[in-house]
Amino acid sequence: MVTRLYTHPIFLEHITPPGHPERPDRLRAIERVLDDEAFAALDRANAPEGDEATILFAHPQEFVEKVRAAIPDTGIARVDADTTASPKSWQAAVTAIGAANAAVDDVFQGRADNVFVAARPPGHHAEKTTAMGFCLFNTAAIAARYAQRHHQAERVAIVDWDVHHGNGTQDIFWDDPSVLYCSTHQMPLYPGTGAVSETGAGNIVNAPLAPQTGSDVFRDAFLSRILPTLDDFAPDLIIISAGFDAHHRDPLAEINLTEDDFDWATGQLIERAGRHSGNRLVSLLEGGYDLQGLAFSVAAHVGRLMKG
Ligand SMILES: [Zn+2]
Repeated sequence: MVTRLYTHPIFLEHITPPGHPERPDRLRAIERVLDDEAFAALDRANAPEGDEATILFAHPQEFVEKVRAAIPDTGIARVDADTTASPKSWQAAVTAIGAANAAVDDVFQGRADNVFVAARPPGHHAEKTTAMGFCLFNTAAIAARYAQRHHQAERVAIVDWDVHHGNGTQDIFWDDPSVLYCSTHQMPLYPGTGAVSETGAGNIVNAPLAPQTGSDVFRDAFLSRILPTLDDFAPDLIIISAGFDAHHRDPLAEINLTEDDFDWATGQLIERAGRHSGNRLVSLLEGGYDLQGLAFSVAAHVGRLMKG
């Protein structure tokens, strides 16, 4: 397996207010753990500049301009109750999109079997016309449509194991059966969506997890609901919305996963990517707010991507 890692210093320059959980130190913790010689074989690349026009794959122009106008010249501006922007946030968000699209290019053009994108801000809460939940643009949704438009992918699956429901991704693909959206998430929890009954055009699979559950319930959701749906759908590409805030140490939720669960889930998706998608798997960092839990989980996830 060739596993590529995209990062970029600009991702550290999206500054959030003091005490905000979505902070640059998250990426520093990931960088530190991936410095270990166990990851020497990672194909490390700087995220390329993003193409702003691809934002329109998931968001209308009017919304894009609204976000652009919200970027401050100095200091930190509030975009929604818990979403903020600093002077470099636009460049960070667009570079995150550039990295995700480049990762799609890499797996379709054979430069890598799979790719992990360590970027911020995250994306899965961003709806068509709403920036929220620390997210400005929906990077995973843009990358899915990029694969369809630039690489003739017919079916793309997005598997989202962030502990929060990816309301934005669900919103964008609600009536688009060419993209399958599968999510495990704590419920009740922010943002409040993600009930089993929310099925879109039959392309949305929500597997809510009750607070204080852990490995068994998470793995059962994969085995009984998500993996069989993936097999039926037979995607040309699998994108993971890889949040690690279902880790038991995470301060924002009450699901008790360990890094072993992320290793296991990664292995399951690698197997499906091998079966249906020519190994093509792109993983995008979403949440994960305990630095140790995040670092250990990313190490397990990327280690599994490399092993296949
Ligand atoms: Zn989250």
